[in-house]
Amino acid sequence: MNTFLQYNPTRLYFGKDQVSQLTQEIKQEAKVLVVYGGGSIKRNGVYDAVIAELEKVNADVFELSGVEPNPRLTTVEKGSALCKKEGIDFLLAVGGGSVIDCTKAIAAGAHYEGSAWDLITQKEPIESALPFGTVLTLAATGSEMNSVSVITNWETKEKLGWGSPHVFPVFSVLDPTYTFSVPEDQTVYGIVDSMSHALEHYFHRTPNTPMIDGFMESLLRTAIQTGPKLLANLESYEHRETMMYISTTAFNGTLSNGTDGGDWATHRIEHAVSAVYDIPHGGGLAILFPNWLLHVLEEDPSRVKQLAVNVLGVSAEGKSDYDIALEGAEALRQFWNSLGAPSRLADYDIDDSEFEAMIDKTFIKPGVGTYKELDRESVKDILKRSL
Ligand code: NAP
Ligand code: FE
Repeated sequence: MNTFLQYNPTRLYFGKDQVSQLTQEIKQEAKVLVVYGGGSIKRNGVYDAVIAELEKVNADVFELSGVEPNPRLTTVEKGSALCKKEGIDFLLAVGGGSVIDCTKAIAAGAHYEGSAWDLITQKEPIESALPFGTVLTLAATGSEMNSVSVITNWETKEKLGWGSPHVFPVFSVLDPTYTFSVPEDQTVYGIVDSMSHALEHYFHRTPNTPMIDGFMESLLRTAIQTGPKLLANLESYEHRETMMYISTTAFNGTLSNGTDGGDWATHRIEHAVSAVYDIPHGGGLAILFPNWLLHVLEEDPSRVKQLAVNVLGVSAEGKSDYDIALEGAEALRQFWNSLGAPSRLADYDIDDSEFEAMIDKTFIKPGVGTYKELDRESVKDILKRSL
């Protein structure tokens, strides 16, 4: 194992009716900016529940609605400007990963004079941010308990992941009933994204990590067992709570304890694809991850083989490592496909015409992949396999 620091300051309130904790967390008469998306929280009652709690502490409530899936810099800038103008004390993100990611950027931008893009591109350091909490409504990204955010600049068509210890949520409320209304397709994308976060972590090169490897395998097997049952009953508390805990744990730092942190090339490529085509993150990952596995197993099938046997139920008997790994990559594709996830870029009408642009965007920041460092040709190979 490597040396590591386990640090995560986010207080997690997990379970039914935990929205009531807002009154413990938000100061009397605070100026609170509630950030949300396109209106799902108004239809499923979450908005009303949150506002009722804020009224109990006499909060002065401001609102920023309309955060896009794949949140945009323009919305971030609108939010930061509002915080400065109104002297906002606290931000409350109510929604999925997009709303939370946008809130993180607003929080950092509110303490900075120029454009938040300077912070996201690391042109300028992030020295502080407004404090914020979250009420999660979609189990997928883990953003509710990490310091990562992904923002798209549509002027430059760049989608960038960034992070700072200043943008950990102070607290997050995770009530599985708030995810009952997540439609089938978004539920599938959430399962794929959570599993992809575990898979990115799984492909590390640090020796002697049996505890965390086993933990990741268990998380992935549980997602495979739970996914189909949840899709058969979208309002199952039992399966919603399992998926919610999986998605938070898959990206809150736990899975990188003692390792080099994992590969993350597939996320880099997916961000490049969705910067050009604005497709759902989980949909892009479902297409790309099995092809990344196929690409890396050509050189070294050992880790894909371990995944195939320990997670994907591939029998090893009488087969070469290469064949077992190949079956594993195919089994992952088939599993996601059986849930209804796309498996080809063609499913989103994407052909090879923008490959060069997507490859350029993959390399916006140098160093793509650690388990296997990719060059432009490797990324092209993965994209071609994904057509
Ligand atoms: P999302 O983009 O936040 O939400 C997708 C859709 O689901 C929206 O249309 C939203 O509608 C709807 N929705 C959310 N909760 C709902 C509910 N309870 N009932 C009905 N509909 C609901 O999806 P996401 O997968 O959570 O976030 C994706 C973004 O996160 C991407 O930009 C991705 O790149 C990024 N990401 C971040 C991290 C991280 O660690 N920060 C990790 C991976 C990915 P409304 O707009 O109406 O609410
Ligand atoms: Fe992700």
